[in-house]
Formats: sequence, structure tokens, C-alpha cells
Amino acid sequence: MTHTQEIRWNLDNSYTSLPEFFYKKTEPTPVASPELVIFNNSLAKALGLDAEKLQSEDGVEILAGNQIPEGTATISQAYGGHQFGNFTMLGDGRAVLLGEQVTPSGERFDIQLKGSGRTPFSRGGDGRGTLGPMLREYIISEAMHGLGIPTNRSLSVVKTGEPVMRETELPGAILTRVSASHLRIGTFEYTANWGTEEDLRKLADYVIQRHFPNIEDNEDRYLAFYQEVVKRQAALVAKWQLVGFIHGVMNTDNMTISGETIDYGPCAFMDEYDPATVFSSIDVQGRYAYRNQPPIGQWNLARFAETLLPLIHEQQDHAVELAQEALTGYEDLYRHYWLEGMRKKLGLQTEEDQDEPLIEDLLGIMEKHRADYTNTFRALTLDKPEETAMNGTTEFTHWYEQWQARLDRQEQSKTSSYQLMKQSNPSVIPRNHRVEEALEAAVEKGDYSVMKRLMDVLSDPYAYLPEQEEYSTLPEPSNRPYRTFCGT
Ligand code: AMP
Ligand code: MG
Repeated sequence: MTHTQEIRWNLDNSYTSLPEFFYKKTEPTPVASPELVIFNNSLAKALGLDAEKLQSEDGVEILAGNQIPEGTATISQAYGGHQFGNFTMLGDGRAVLLGEQVTPSGERFDIQLKGSGRTPFSRGGDGRGTLGPMLREYIISEAMHGLGIPTNRSLSVVKTGEPVMRETELPGAILTRVSASHLRIGTFEYTANWGTEEDLRKLADYVIQRHFPNIEDNEDRYLAFYQEVVKRQAALVAKWQLVGFIHGVMNTDNMTISGETIDYGPCAFMDEYDPATVFSSIDVQGRYAYRNQPPIGQWNLARFAETLLPLIHEQQDHAVELAQEALTGYEDLYRHYWLEGMRKKLGLQTEEDQDEPLIEDLLGIMEKHRADYTNTFRALTLDKPEETAMNGTTEFTHWYEQWQARLDRQEQSKTSSYQLMKQSNPSVIPRNHRVEEALEAAVEKGDYSVMKRLMDVLSDPYAYLPEQEEYSTLPEPSNRPYRTFCGT
């Protein structure tokens, strides 16, 4: 390839400095006739790539896996994971890591092709992805970024020109994902189960250097590492709860060490506030329901702790004690981040003991009246309580008075409180019916304009622009609940 430099690929392969136990050299399988259907200009620029050249025919050959940039070694990564509670061997079954793009400012991002063909970890799968789910991941991951939630991002989707066999024949597609890294709790589980203690130490040292350089010289670095991951998970799950995001498949292989959201298969945003909400068709027990996300985060961190015990302390009992303490700390951390976020959502700039009951009261009333989660906070932000589903009820009127009195008790002006609310309550989220509408136009008609308009309004959900208004309307009532399917 002559265009590697022109496109300004600057790919490094630090992961291959780890023992081969951690990965397999894997090349993407070429596809028939690649067609770039969506491209993220601003992300390309942020990565230091030449956005124009990357969209040229030669550039797209790379995004399709038909060509590999010069000087990089492509791999698939090994990992395991607890899927719905059961541990199993997994690994990148349909993804290849092109390399780590080092940006002009020195940041490092994994560039991964998802849907790029079979790998040594594919088991029975075909290693491919289909257009709808790849576009869906593109939309939701970018929406999450717009919402200010740590997430991997999406650089492009390329149609492969090849059919992929699912229940019916579907158009194949490859998504280019950009992540701080793809290291997961499952990477550690894989190592603890099948590797040596030396492998484990090497992995931990690698991750510390890459994601937590500030604790490198810490005396108890592995415990400190664990505490940092606990903190990031608590912060992440709190952010999900605050916007009503339901991940849908919080298996340990889908939980990153960096604290980014990954794996957008069956996720969706909640409309009506109901803590029991589940969208994923395969989550029949509701293991990953909205209200279970915080405790599942902790369950996953317990699995993570188990892998680190030999590093945390040479005496197993003591290691368990230390890890247990850090794990218990998750509950307070989560509560702290959640409460901090909820205070902002209600414009509370000071702290009072009664804030938590005030928040819980509101949520209780919302649940009872099946109020839309996002639009309730939106209406409060716009000072239009009359637009909420609970308007006119005695309980809401009473709550509203208490809240207003609480705002009056703060020194800060009401204007500044409403300003804070605007920054904390999105005016739009990727509503399921809007996402479906965009996907249908794209997949059925090859019309990407609906998706692009949606992406536009989702890019700054806190802007409260007039053109965002129509995207806040609710779907027509339906007698069938919204269902999502694991990304296929
Ligand atoms: P996920 O549900 O996306 O987290 O995937 C779980 C595991 O299944 C991972 O190891 C994936 O790489 C693998 N996988 C998912 N879809 C395919 C596919 N079409 N071909 C091969 N492996 C797959
Ligand atoms: Mg996964």
C-alpha cells in the first residue's frame, strides 16, 4: 500500500509485546466490493487521520479489511468471560485489531475492524456482521459520546457487497471501532484460568502502563489498580443510570478495564421510567434489567478481583481481605456518583441530607405514572412541569413545591440552577423508534439521510436546539414492548 503515510496511519502494536498467549496473528478476510456508507469526519481528524484520503478508494480498502496499512501486525485478542453467569472461552470471533493509532497529541486508540471475517476464536460463527446492527452500534456509540459517557467510538461502516446468512440473507458490513483499548475483565479471567502468574503480571503491568500510569510507582500497585477499575466502573454505571441507558449484556467480556462502554448489541434507552425494564430478547430472567446494572457491575468486579488475588498479596487470605474491602467500596462510590449526577439533574448545587429522599420520591412518582424518563427531566429543565405525565396529581404538586423550596434555600440563583439542569439533562436521546426509522431507511432503501439527521441532533444533546424538539416526541403507544437482539 502506497497510501499508508498519506492517510496518516500511525499504527503501533504494543499489544504484541505481550506473550503470544494473549493473541493470534490474524488477517481480515477480503470482501467482494466494499462501499463506504457512513464515515465519522471529526473522529478521523481527532485521530490525526486524513479524513479525505481515508474515504478514497484506497482508504476504504483498509476499512473493509482488503488491505492492511504498512508496518502493522493485525491480531485477534484472546479473552474469556462470564456470559449470564457462566464462564467460557471467547476471544475476538469476528474482529481484528488493525493496530493502535497514536494521535498527534500522543494518545493511543485501538482501531478494530468488527465483522472482518473468521478468526481462530470464531468457533462456529462466520466472523461477519450485518448492516443493520453495525449501523445501530455506530448510532448508539456516537450518541453515548455526545451524552458525555465514556465509550468506544465508531469511525465508519463499510458494506461488504457480500450477503451474510442469518435467519434470512442480509447485507454484510464492517464497523471500524475506536477504543481506549479492548481489554476486558474477560481478558484477566482468560489469563487467570489458562495462563501463568507471570502472564497475569505482564498483563496487569501492561494495562497499568497504558491506562493508569499515575499508579505505576505505587507500592501496592495491583491493589491500587483494582481500586481504580472499581472507581471507573462505578462512575460508568452511574452515568448509564442517569440517562436511562440499558446495556443489555453486561457479561464480563463486555466490561472494559478502561471504563468505556463497549458492545452495543442489545442495548437501548428506557422510555417510561420502570426500573424493571429489559429490552434484550435473550435476557429472559432480567439479569441485566435497568435496576440490576449497579449490582451486576459489582458482581463483575468480584470476578475481576478473583483474577488479581495472586498479585494483590502473596498470602491469599490477606489478598481476599484487601480485594473485598475495595469491592465493598464500590457501593459507596456508585451511590456518590449517582447522587452527584441526580443533584445536577435537579439543579441542586448544595448538599442537604434530604436530597436523596427528594430524588427517590420523584422517581417513585414517575414510576407510578409511567412518566417518560428523559422527557420528565427535560420538562423540569424547561420549567414546564405541566408537560410531565404526573402533572395535576397531588403527589407531584407536593413534590414540586418541596423541590422549589429546596432550590430557594440555595444561595445560587434559580437561573444558574436551570442552567446546570440543561447541562445535565439531555433534550434528546436515541429513541428506539427513531433509531429503527433511521436503520430502515438505510438498510431497506439505501437512504442514509435519516440516520445523518439523527446523528446530527444527537451530537450535542444538551444544546436544546429547536430542531431537536421533534426528536423528543414519544413513539405511538404500542401493545408490543420494544425488543432488541444480540448484535448479529
Ligand atoms: P458478543 O455477544 O458480541 O459480546 O459476542 C460474544 C462472543 O461471540 C465473542 O467472542 C464474539 O467474537 C463472538 N461472535 C459474535 N458473533 C460472531 C460471529 N458472527 N462469528 C464469530 N464469532 C462471533
Ligand atoms: Mg462482546
